[in-house]
Amino acid sequence: MQRIGIDLGGTKIEALTLDPAGKEVFRKRIPAPRGDYAATLAAVAALVRDAGDGTVGVGIPGALSKVTGLVKNANSTWLIGKPLQQDLEKAIGRKVRLANDANCFALSEAVDGAGEGAEVVFGVILGTGVGGGIVVRGEVLTGANAIAGEWGHNPLPLPQASDLPLRPCYCGRSGCIETYLSGPALERDGGEAALGRYAERLARALAGVINILDPDVIVLGGGVSKEARLYEEVPQLWQRHVFSDQVATRLLSPRHGDASGVRGAAWLWGGPPGVK
Ligand SMILES: [Zn+2]
Repeated sequence: MQRIGIDLGGTKIEALTLDPAGKEVFRKRIPAPRGDYAATLAAVAALVRDAGDGTVGVGIPGALSKVTGLVKNANSTWLIGKPLQQDLEKAIGRKVRLANDANCFALSEAVDGAGEGAEVVFGVILGTGVGGGIVVRGEVLTGANAIAGEWGHNPLPLPQASDLPLRPCYCGRSGCIETYLSGPALERDGGEAALGRYAERLARALAGVINILDPDVIVLGGGVSKEARLYEEVPQLWQRHVFSDQVATRLLSPRHGDASGVRGAAWLWGGPPGVK
């Protein structure tokens, strides 16, 4: 059986088909129809038709509420409150499995990516939104509220003068990590010093994760993860905020690049080969 993965991003939607041996046989990326739920359903259905036969797993921003089954916590706010699973199944004509996009990304990188062999992996999406996913010994940690790893809406720690006033977030809070560390936030910041400021904020935010989860590996994904400077600067900057005499946690770029989220989505129906 082929496995189809869909990564439903805020600016792009990507599809991937893996053959029964786990080899990539199809990949396509289209711009996301922003702000339009019906067009989003149609776009995913069209991508799945192009992708061929197979099971369908979809990585989404946010999660399905354990109370209502509806989408919550999505930076793509036009998905919030929608019965996305049922609507996609109707549009596609197949059963669909949904999971948080950062969880899909973290799983792909933990199993045979940058975090291969590590016991605890924190996968971070620095894209249109900011999310995180936790994989422990090869398994995604979903959590009691389906929000494990969702650090993007924690407040940015230790706000400094250049972080003020606290930025309003779509979620209704102010000063969320996402409002400083998303791709659009970095773009808006602009100028020479923007990336340096970004690295320092990322270090503060990740230090909080290290103090709680103490992961072996943190893998960055999403558009901003292509900034090579981050992998050198952030681990130097986070030292002062981590409550430890040494920090062994490694900050790594994704081995599977842009394809990691969509690979993890394809695996929602099992696999890859050799992995339960
Ligand atoms: Zn927020």
